[in-house]
Amino acid sequence: MCTRTGIVLDALGVRFRTGPGTEVVAVDDITRQIPDHHFVSIVGPSGCGKSTLLAVVAGLQKATHGTVTIDGRRVVGPDRAVGLVFQEDSTLPWKNVFDNVRFAMQIAGMGRAEQNERATETIELVGLRGFEKAFPAELSGGMRQRVALARTLALRPSVVLMDEPFAALDQQTRLLLGAEVVRIWRQTHQTVLFVTHDISEAILLSQQVWVMSYRPGRIIDVVDVDLPQDRDASIVSTPEFNRLQNRVWRSVQAESMRGFASESRVPR
Ligand code: ADP
Repeated sequence: MCTRTGIVLDALGVRFRTGPGTEVVAVDDITRQIPDHHFVSIVGPSGCGKSTLLAVVAGLQKATHGTVTIDGRRVVGPDRAVGLVFQEDSTLPWKNVFDNVRFAMQIAGMGRAEQNERATETIELVGLRGFEKAFPAELSGGMRQRVALARTLALRPSVVLMDEPFAALDQQTRLLLGAEVVRIWRQTHQTVLFVTHDISEAILLSQQVWVMSYRPGRIIDVVDVDLPQDRDASIVSTPEFNRLQNRVWRSVQAESMRGFASESRVPR
C-alpha cells in the first residue's frame, strides 16, 4: 500500500459459518485506504456487509483474511484512538447531558478538571449548550444522538466510525443532523468511516462514497463527491447533488434488487 496513515484495509475478508459446510461471505477481499482526515461513507443494500466491515475496523469482529491498520497500527481489538457512534440510543437515562458526555472520560480515568473542560467544549461543538442539565427523556431523538456524538468526540479520537447513527430519526432531522456532522467534521478533521443505506445522507456527508455489493461484500464502485466542503442541508436540492445521487443509485440499484430477490426466496 502507499502510505500507512489513516485507515488501510488490506485484502480484508470476513466469512461466517452458518451451518455444516455453509458460510456467508460478508466481506470479500477489500483493499482500500481512507487517508487521514478524510470522510468516507459506505452504502449498499441491507445485508451486504457494511456493519461487519465497520466492526472489523473497530476491532469488535475478527477478520478471516487480511488486515486493517489505523495510523500504522494493526487492529487486533478496540483502540482508544477510535471512536464509535451507533444507531441505538446509547445515552444513560439516569445521567444528565453533561454527565453523559463526561461518562466515557470518567471510564478512561481522565482528571475531573479536564473532563469538565472537554465536556463543556464538546457540548458547545454539537450545539447542545443550554441543555447540560437536561435528562435524555427530556430530549428529542436527534438531540440524544448529539449527546452520543459528543461523548465520543470528547475523547478526541483520531478516527470516528459511525454505523447508521441517524437511522431511527425522521428524514428531515436526519438531513439536518447530517449537515451538523459536516460542520463538526470541518472543525475536528477526524478520519471518518460512515455506514448508511441512505444515498443522500452519504453524499451530503462525505468526500468519497464506496458502494458495496450484496454477498459477497465487495467495493464495486467509488464515487468522489466534488461538492464544496462548507455544504449545508440545502445542497440536496442542487443539480450537482442530484447528478451524484443518480450516479450512486445506478450502482446500488442492481445490488439492492439482487439482495431483495435473495432474501425474498422461500427456503425449501
Ligand atoms: P449490513 O450492515 O450491510 O446490513 P451485515 O454486515 O450486518 O450487513 O451482514 C452481512 C451478512 O453477514 C448478512 O448476510 C448477515 O446475515 C451475515 N452476518 C452478520 N453477522 C453474522 C454472524 N455473527 N453470524 C452469521 N452471519 C452473520
